[in-house]
Order: sequence, then structure tokens, then C-alpha cells
Amino acid sequence: MRRIIVQKFGGTSVADTEKIKNVAKTVIKEKNNGNNVVVVVSAMGHTTDYLVKMAKDLSATPSTREMDMLLSTGEGVSIALLAMAIQAQGYEAVSFNAMQVGIFTENVHSKARIIKIQTEKLKQNLNEGKIIVVAGFQGVTEDGEITTLGRGGSDTSAVALAAALNAERCDIYTDVEGVYTTDPRIVPKATKLKEISYEEMLELAHAGANVLHPRSVETAKLNNVPLRVRSSFKTDDMGTLILGVNKMEIDKPVTGVAADLSQARVVVCDVPDVPGQAAKIFSKLAQEGISVDMIIQSYARKISNTNDIAFTIDSTDIEKAKETLDKMKEQIHCGEIQINSEIAKVSIVGAGMIDRPGIASTMFETLANLDINIKMISTSEIKISCLVDKADAKKAVQALHDEFNLSSDTIAEVKGDLPNI
Ligand code: ADP
Ligand code: ASP
Ligand code: MG
Repeated sequence: MRRIIVQKFGGTSVADTEKIKNVAKTVIKEKNNGNNVVVVVSAMGHTTDYLVKMAKDLSATPSTREMDMLLSTGEGVSIALLAMAIQAQGYEAVSFNAMQVGIFTENVHSKARIIKIQTEKLKQNLNEGKIIVVAGFQGVTEDGEITTLGRGGSDTSAVALAAALNAERCDIYTDVEGVYTTDPRIVPKATKLKEISYEEMLELAHAGANVLHPRSVETAKLNNVPLRVRSSFKTDDMGTLILGVNKMEIDKPVTGVAADLSQARVVVCDVPDVPGQAAKIFSKLAQEGISVDMIIQSYARKISNTNDIAFTIDSTDIEKAKETLDKMKEQIHCGEIQINSEIAKVSIVGAGMIDRPGIASTMFETLANLDINIKMISTSEIKISCLVDKADAKKAVQALHDEFNLSSDTIAEVKGDLPNI
């Protein structure tokens, strides 16, 4: 069988019919290189944001099942249009949604994980010479329920398909020319990276660099899928390769800076200082499918013998977390529960920071010089994150990018606009 290349095109790349024609050309070029091509597409432009807005106009807490029914429709439009555009250029193409392919996920709505992908039908169509266009972001449970993989999840659909089909590589085409040292919308002189390791990319993606969905990087790493981020509009540029080891990593302590503006901080105040309290709180949150990121427990206060437990969650889980914790109040005998979504997590990432002292203190000093208050800190071997006020996030990223000498001389080209809803 010929080599299989999986290509993924994001919302900006398929925002209108002209852009879809352009995508069709890129797809056909790969086919003409003698490869079998499977294309994954996102919903057109800001379709998903508009669908979310409509749902929120109708209900503050729409059911996650109906949200998945709604949001999965966006990708249904773009797959059919792209297949038509390819056919119009004289090539055979067929579009499939997740149910037709058999992209099976766990039985969870709004952020399901892919567990299995059926490849027979795909292989059969490829053998017949067809270009296959698959809907990103969506899946189906064993019971036939539609699920979605979380915002930005089409990247994960593409990498999971590449892994299942043993593809030669997975190319993520987007509105920037690759992975940069930080979001080029925040720092226009950010530097494009030629290569980055799976580990560093994973940390950056988790830290809010939404150029790749974190789970796509995890899946690529687990299955050793060579992954490339490249521009939909400058297709000759090879973009950034994400691979096993980054040879550049020793040169600089910090590879990239990211900000995550989609988190909220929860503080459970006055928790009695007895064993088992944290276990109770976090196991209940886990049961509800709420992921927790940074966690801080204060020292027990001597007089009251209580402490505060603070942690961060995704903003989309605020309502569910509030409800869950309110129900637990009596069980854990805690005080007030505070939730603040006006916060942001700012992170520096780099394999080069291992065994290099002083990186954390430089980060804290940089923020202190800007009079930015740090609310929480968390670290991994190759990442340091600080929680700050949302209003301070942009200047924090710019200052850290500067402090760690990450800028280039050129201005990055960014195609898409920001959603305006
Ligand atoms: P797509 O619709 O193609 O999936 P996304 O909007 O999800 O595109 O991701 C691309 C965007 O990611 C860029 O426009 C850029 O603003 C943002 N981004 C954040 N961090 C980075 C980074 N380190 N490198 C490149 N882009 C980044
Ligand atoms: N359309 C979905 C979103 O906007 C999935 C994706 O684009 O990756 O989040
Ligand atoms: Mg994306």
C-alpha cells in the first residue's frame, strides 16, 4: 500500500469557500506526490463559537449531550464542502463523520477520549484511490451517542487517525507558520521553532499554547507519530516538526512562554486539618469529570486548626464545581467556597531548565518588576507556572519572552482574526 499522509485544516483554513478551494489544492498536491491522503477538518471559521453562543443564549447550563449534538454539526458542513471542492477538481473524494468511520470514544460528553478507530472502511476507500475527508472533533460511543473531544480537538482526531492508520506523518495546517516561542498574537516578534520535543510541546499545550490540542501531542508521543505544524497559506514552508528529542534544548533554558486564560481558581476555605479531606474533595471532583490543575494547601492555622485548599479548574467547569462543592460543604465542614475566573496561568517551558538554578527566581523577579502579584505557583521538571490576574497576563508573557531572549527580528504572520461574539 502507498504511504498515508494525514492532513488537518483548522477553522481559519476553511473559513469560506475560497479558502476551501485552496485547501483542496493542498490536498491534491499531496495526492499527486503519490501518497494516500486522509484529511481532517474543523468547523468553518468561528462556527463553533457561534454555536456555543446560541446555546448559552438559551440556557446557562445546557446539557452536555445536547451541546455535543449541536457542536458536532459544524464539522459536518466543512467535510461535505471540502469533498465537493476536491471532486470539482477532478479527483475522487468521500467525506465521513465520526460515526461512519467508527471513531469510538469513552462515554463522556464534551471532552471524550478516543479509545478505538476502525480502519477497514478507510483503507478500502484509500485503496480505491479516493481522498478521504473526516470530521474532526467528534466521536461516537459504543451506544451510538455523539461525543466531542474538547475545544481544539480536531488536532487529536487527526493524530489518532494517523496512529491508527500507521501514517507516514500528520501535518497540522493552521493560520500561523508553525510553533513559536510564544503566541505571535501576543508577541509579534516571537521566533518560529524548527523543531520541538514532544515533552516540551505537551507542556506548552497544557500551559495554554492552543496551536495544538494537548491530547494530540500526547497521542503523537505515545504512538511515535511524526507531527508537523505548518501554514495553510504558505504550504512550501515546512513549519515546525514535533519529535522525540529536541537537539536545541540545551542551548537555552526556556523554549517557550504560554498563557492560559481559560482557568478559574477555587478556594475551599477553613477546611478542618484532619486526614482525608483533600482525598474527599478531589475524588468527588474527579467523579464529576472535573480536571484540577494547580493545587495549594495552606499551613494549618493554629487557633482554628483549619487550612485553605486552593486549586484551578477549567472555566467551563465552574458551574459543575460549584454545585459539587456546595453539596459537600456539610460533609467536610468547611467554610466559604470562593471562585474567581479573572485569573490566568502564565508558564515558561524548557527542557534546558533542568539542573539550571535561577530560572524560577528570574521568572518571579520579572513579574515582581512589573508589580504583578503571584497567586499560585506550580512546577514540573521542565515548566514553571504562575497564577496571576487575567489583566496582567499579556504583559507578563511579553516581559518573560524578553527576559529569556526568545525574540527574533521578523514579525510573524498571523492569518485568522480573533472571534468577535
Ligand atoms: P486552528 O483553527 O487551525 O486549529 P488555532 O486557533 O486552534 O488554529 O491555533 C492556532 C493559533 O494558536 C494561532 O493563531 C496562535 O494565535 C495560537 N498560538 C498560541 N500559542 C502559540 C505558539 N506557541 N505558536 C504558534 N501559535 C500559537
Ligand atoms: N471546531 C472545534 C473548535 O472550534 C474543534 C477544532 O477546531 O479543533 O473547538
Ligand atoms: Mg486548533
